[in-house]
Amino acid sequence: MAFKTIVGLEIHVELSTKHKMFCNCPNEYGAEANTQTCPICLGLPGALPVVDKEAVEYAIRAGIAFNCEISNVIRMDRKNYFYPDLTKGYQISQADLPLCDGGYVEIELEEGTKKISLNRIHIEEDTGKQTHTDEGLSLLDFNRCGVPLIEIVSNPDMNSAEEARLFLDNLKDTLKYIGVSDVRMEEGSLRCDVNINIVDKERGLKSNISEIKNLNSFKAVVKAIEFEEKRHKDLLEAGDNSEKETRRWDETKGETVLMRKKFGASDYRFAFDGDIPPVDVSDEWIEEIRKSLPELPHHKKERFMNSYGLSSYDAGVLTQSKELSLFFEEILKYIDDPNLVSNWIMGDVLRRLKENEQEIEDIKIASKDLADLIILVRDGKINNNTGKKVLREMFDTGKTPDLIVKEQGLVQISDEGALSGIIEEVLNNNEQSIIDFKNGKDRAIGFLVGQIMKASKGKANPQVVNKLLMEEINKR
Ligand SMILES: [Zn+2]
Repeated sequence: MAFKTIVGLEIHVELSTKHKMFCNCPNEYGAEANTQTCPICLGLPGALPVVDKEAVEYAIRAGIAFNCEISNVIRMDRKNYFYPDLTKGYQISQADLPLCDGGYVEIELEEGTKKISLNRIHIEEDTGKQTHTDEGLSLLDFNRCGVPLIEIVSNPDMNSAEEARLFLDNLKDTLKYIGVSDVRMEEGSLRCDVNINIVDKERGLKSNISEIKNLNSFKAVVKAIEFEEKRHKDLLEAGDNSEKETRRWDETKGETVLMRKKFGASDYRFAFDGDIPPVDVSDEWIEEIRKSLPELPHHKKERFMNSYGLSSYDAGVLTQSKELSLFFEEILKYIDDPNLVSNWIMGDVLRRLKENEQEIEDIKIASKDLADLIILVRDGKINNNTGKKVLREMFDTGKTPDLIVKEQGLVQISDEGALSGIIEEVLNNNEQSIIDFKNGKDRAIGFLVGQIMKASKGKANPQVVNKLLMEEINKR
């Protein structure tokens, strides 16, 4: 059967503004419970909310970065529902008139670029936080009440778990680039809901949409989509097109679990919030914000390909984080060879960061020092293997390459006189290898080079060794 998976995502992003959305309480993660509240964010009777300008600016930044149309007016609505962490009995959100309309995110697939269209981005406030203890208590922390959020709603344009992951990667990188959120999923500043169903194209059937709530890692999103794909297919094959459900992801069991069945659309009784008069957003202000945006990742990627001649893959990796792209361009100030620098970063530097579970921000190496190391290897002062060794040392100690080379006596031996002595000794001790080579066993050369490198403590210049070795063997 020909099945097609259909996925749409809703992502809540906490904005890293100084203050909350409608009051002057600090917007900081991790403070002692219930120490960052006031009558406004607690929703006490008579308190009047005031829209935070910075939060609106951040939301507009996101809207511009994701190619949305920005509305010229902000209108806030009340979304009515009861929940213990929502003291007002309603959440301030946006219903019919979102701040940012439409837009899209591009993802790179093997077959080319795919545009995932967005339905909207709107602003709203976060709710408080409930914690359930082992003793059966439910604790409430209202510090998170009123923290500014944007909700990014995609259209159902994704057709696999991989496409969803690429979409989220791009979204996360861009939000971080434009500085509107720290996008720390483990701290809840980016949370994702998945909507998924399956179409059986042959039989013209489709399953009903399942919504999986509050996924807090990209890995969980991927696993939940893969699990649901199979569950929906099995249901369709069994002749059951399932019911509309809200489910959650159970990490330990590795499966989604039913939370509740959906009967029709939820009625939140959305209504204009009369406490918050509509706010005008002028074209001049939108333009000002547009101009203040940094170069976005996909623009930067194109520039890296065009100006530096990098491959699409290399340019993509180097521009994924703003810090990494800055580090790369800093190094180019000292050594004008983009491909060589890219090779070093893409290879040894990123591998080492991964091994140390570090981000580029944590690196101890100054850009000039890495440039110096690359130059040492390029100019043959030290050989490639020694270069890798020096890099490891730089990672651990932050010392300059010159100092490490000097301290450990690593300068490459290119002097023919010095190398001839070593080569002669190795050949005298390995006469069988010379015979083997002369009988056509090419591998014998590799062995001899290895012995010479070992005898020189890894410092011999491989090109000079190869040349002298052949000369010496031909004499014998
Ligand atoms: Zn407050």
